[in-house]
Amino acid sequence: EIRIERVTKRFGALEVLSDVDFTIGKGEFAAIVGPSGCGKSTVLRMIAGLDKPTEGKVLANGKPTGKPSPERVLIFQEHALYPWRTVEDNVGFGLELAKVPARERRERIDEVLEKVGLSGFQHYYPSQLSGGMKQRASIARALIMNPEVLLLDEPYGALDAITRLTMQNELIKLWRGTGKTVLLITHDIDEAVYLADTIYVMSPRPGRIISRVHADMPRPRNRNST
Ligand code: ATP
Ligand code: MG
Repeated sequence: EIRIERVTKRFGALEVLSDVDFTIGKGEFAAIVGPSGCGKSTVLRMIAGLDKPTEGKVLANGKPTGKPSPERVLIFQEHALYPWRTVEDNVGFGLELAKVPARERRERIDEVLEKVGLSGFQHYYPSQLSGGMKQRASIARALIMNPEVLLLDEPYGALDAITRLTMQNELIKLWRGTGKTVLLITHDIDEAVYLADTIYVMSPRPGRIISRVHADMPRPRNRNST
């Protein structure tokens, strides 16, 4: 469970978030929508443990998210792959840090690359991939850590409509039934409605949550036929 408790965030004199308060239950898929600059990435960075609130609390399972944890993986707006590492070395980087033996690492890399449709691209460098493939590689890099909470900051921003839809469906498949918590930031309200159980709408200057929408309409993942 992710709990944002009366959070205010200031950068110097600039109040970026004001009294933001919400809870995302375990296994819930939540989305945040709102105009550019309203503080969406700032919220995600605090949940990821990359930043701290000025006032209030950000808690994961009741504990402050003081520093980054492999349990809460953030996929950035700008997919930050290491250009000097191949796809497999990028994707396996977290496992390397966690000192997972090379053999197990290779197996898990193969498995996750297959899931995101990048089998056969193990030895490519980021510069040799398309934008969408880079995004899929960074999603693979997060998924391989099997995080409890997946934080996605506009992961599909730069993708064409077809790839975007494919990736959205992949995300649904990967998430459905796993009990994982997902928080997705998007500018695209259709995308939020399509993917999320709960949608938070933010307004800017300073960022506040102005609306919470529960999208309880039937969606593809709620049918058990696939
Ligand atoms: P976008 O949709 O464009 O990605 P956003 O909702 O993600 O926007 P944030 O990146 O959270 O917005 O930024 C919110 C505000 O906080 C902006 O005005 C930005 O300038 C400011 N801000 C973010 N990080 C910092 C920082 N490290 N220092 C100073 N100001 C910051
Ligand atoms: Mg942002």
